[in-house]
This record gives sequence, structure tokens and C-alpha cells, in this order.
Amino acid sequence: MKSTNDLQNKQVLVLGYAMTGKSVVEFLLKAGANIVLNDRGDLSSDPSVSFLISEGVEVVDGGHPLSLLDRPLDFIVKNPGIPYQIPVLESAIEQGIPIYTDIELASRYASAPIIGITGSNGKTTTTALIYDILKAAHPAQVHLAGNIGIPTLDIVQTASARDIIVMEVSSFQLEGTAQFHPQIAVLTNIYEAHLDYHGSRVAYVQAKMKLVANQTAEDVVIYNYDQTELTEFLSESRAVKIPFAIDAVDDYVRQHGVYLENEAIYARGERLFDIQVIQIPGQHNIQNVLAATAVALIEEVPLATLVEAVHNYQGMPHRIQPMGEYAGVRYYNDSKATNETATITALDSFDSSIVYIGGGLDRGVTFEALIPHLTQVKVAALYGEAQDKMAAAFKVAGVPTIEQFEELQEATTFAVSQAEPGDTVLFSPSCASWDQFENYERRGEDFIQFVQSLHGRTEK
Ligand code: ADP
Repeated sequence: MKSTNDLQNKQVLVLGYAMTGKSVVEFLLKAGANIVLNDRGDLSSDPSVSFLISEGVEVVDGGHPLSLLDRPLDFIVKNPGIPYQIPVLESAIEQGIPIYTDIELASRYASAPIIGITGSNGKTTTTALIYDILKAAHPAQVHLAGNIGIPTLDIVQTASARDIIVMEVSSFQLEGTAQFHPQIAVLTNIYEAHLDYHGSRVAYVQAKMKLVANQTAEDVVIYNYDQTELTEFLSESRAVKIPFAIDAVDDYVRQHGVYLENEAIYARGERLFDIQVIQIPGQHNIQNVLAATAVALIEEVPLATLVEAVHNYQGMPHRIQPMGEYAGVRYYNDSKATNETATITALDSFDSSIVYIGGGLDRGVTFEALIPHLTQVKVAALYGEAQDKMAAAFKVAGVPTIEQFEELQEATTFAVSQAEPGDTVLFSPSCASWDQFENYERRGEDFIQFVQSLHGRTEK
């Protein structure tokens, strides 16, 4: 890590004391900053907080009062999930107090180069794949960090200049940056997302573009060339541009990029490996592999190591996660699909007949967007709050069998009874989980368990 001397005696307000906030406070404390910690929840029962108080941290909990700004502040570090529209932040903006997220500090003090991965979809999958590939080539030097669930400042403190930090970054994190500077930036795609947080598409795109804002001609940006918009957004970037494409494969990509052609992955005119190597399903995952391959080539990973790591990569849990085959039927858990876009991606990933399971929290969506993608669905087992709206859309699509249930377990039992050899059973709920589950992870785990118990866990 670089010297943090400039943080000594700085007055810093830390907003939010969850996983990231904890690592921010710990980092700032070691650096000798004067910290005010604020959380809207009650921190009195958290034992780590009494330690912080004994170390001189001032703790204000149970809300975000405006009086937090009564003291002079050098800057604020906020949890990425806290919106800028709360009064204390609006007032801080008016007063010109810089508001950062953890990745800003991580980037300033990291001595290891950062590979920053962002996009609307595919961040976690691509980040984990890049990590696996680089780790296979340089076992001791590669670190995983960021939005994937590992606080960046924890990693920055241990990584040396010879290491590499593979960092998933969200648009929420990027919004709170000024000097964030990845040596390699990966932009998977930009779809409409999180407009509720960012206010408008322009603001959302601007946040994503902060990924490349501080890059120089020494740096690299790897981006999705299939989305022509991205080429425009990057027109002012100073970095070396490496496009990747599965559809828009033209002379430019063939000369400068990584692409899909003749059922194989190519880089700058050279055939690297067959797409059969890739175990994770769907065209979108080929895009993720292309982005990761571009990083591998920059980091000079030997081709055999790259191919093996891509082949071994099974994807992340709950994202079109293969669960194996029972009685000739393949099962996939896509519990992370909490909206229509993700479910469309899943539906489009299979050539076989699909026995579909979905439903969950009703957020007022009509599910009409799914209709053109339901042609392979022969049976739909729908459950939860949104089941009626989904059933209406599935009827319009002409799905032959549609059954409705109260709960996921009953829907799963029905789906399993309907599946025939050669079919794919796909759980891709297209809804948030919170009507019946704590989170999408729990929902996916329950689904896996229901399927396993229906099959006596033996027929794999
Ligand atoms: P994120 O971290 O950006 O949320 P994940 O890697 O967790 O993305 O994938 C979430 C879902 O997004 C997957 O289940 C899949 O349906 C979809 N997805 C993954 N990669 C892509 C991609 N490159 N383009 C479009 N959709 C994708």
C-alpha cells in the first residue's frame, strides 16, 4: 500500500456501518484520521463499536442528522447504497464537501494495479472468471475485491506492487469517485438499470464512464463493441481500446479486438479456442469470456492456462447455475434473475424444451417483455405474488401448460413431474424474492434442495 500520511488528522465522516463501512473505518483509523461514524440503525449492541469509541471514533446512530455537518469535514465516505438525496448529503454537496465511496480510497492508496470491471449485467461472472484465469497463471499475486463481496480496502492493505487486484465495481461505487484509476477497465455492457438511484439514464451512463475517466494512454479499456453506444461513450477515452464482439464482428474488431467467429474465440486474427470449451451457457457468457480473454492476453497468460481456466469455470451460484442432470433432464438455478431482462437472457440460453419455474414479489411489472422469448417453454409453474400477471403473459405467448401455486416448493414438485428426458428445467423467477424469501441466495438454495429431495439426491 502507498503511504497514507496525508490522511493523518483528516476529519472524515463515514456514513453506513455495514461490511464496507467497517473496513473503511478500520483503514482510516490505522491511517490516523479523526472519524465520525454514522449509521441510521442502532449500533449500541455492536461490540466492535465500543472498541471504536475507545479508539476515539465519535459515533452517531439512529438517523442521519444534519448536525453531522456542524464540525469541519475534509470529506465523507458513504456506503454505496445510501442515496445522495438524503438531507445531510444534499447539504454536504452544497457546502462542497467531497463525498466518496470506498473504491476512491482504494484506488488512491493501492500500490497494486487494479483491473476494474463494471457494466449493467455480467459484472460478477466476468470478475470471477478474470480472477480464476489470472490466479491460474499467477497463484500468489492475484486478489479479488469489490462489489463481489470483499471490501476493497481490506485487499489494498495487503496487496503489494507486484500483485493485481481484480475489482468488481458497481455504478453506485463509481458515482463516489474522483481519482479512481484502474489500469485495465472492463465495461461489459450498459442497459437501463438503477434509474431510481441515478435519476436518469444520462446520470447512470456518466457514473459508469467514471471507470475510464482517469485512464491515461498507458491504460487499457476493454468494452462491448456489440453495443455501438459504448464506442461513442468512449470516444474521449485516452486509453488503449480493446473491443470485444459476438455480433458486430467487422474489420476493426478483427484487427484490434477479441471476438466470436466460426464457433471459436479469436484475438486479432488468431484463433484461440473453440467455444465448446466454455461450460457456462448462453451468448451473454460468451461475451463475458471474450472480456476475460482480453484481460488474459494483456496479462500474458499462456494460452493453455487460459483455456483450462475457462473450461473449469462453472459460473457463480444462482446465475443460470447448472445443477446437474436427473433422469435425462438438466436443471438450472437462476435465482439471481430478479427482473425480466435476466430471465430473457436465461430463456435465450437454451435450445431444448424448457419447463419453466418463476414468480415472486409483485412490483407491478406486466411480464410482456418475456412473451417473444417463451417459444421453447412447454410447461410453466408459477408461484408467489406475481403469478397472475405472469400467467396472463404466458397465456398470450401460447405456453401449452400453465399451472399456478402458492409456493416455490409446490411449483417445483409440479415442474419436476412434468419434465421429460431432453428437457431443461429452468428456475429463473423474473421477480425479487422478498415476498417469501430473505434474499435470492436463500431462494436458490431452497430450490436446489427441493429438486435434490425430489430426486432422492441419487440420480445425478
Ligand atoms: P451482475 O454482477 O452485473 O449483476 P452477474 O454476473 O451476477 O451480473 O449476472 C447476473 C445475471 O445477468 C445472469 O444470471 C445473467 O442472466 C445475466 N448476465 C450475465 N452476463 C451477462 C452479459 N454479459 N450480458 C447480459 N446479461 C448477462
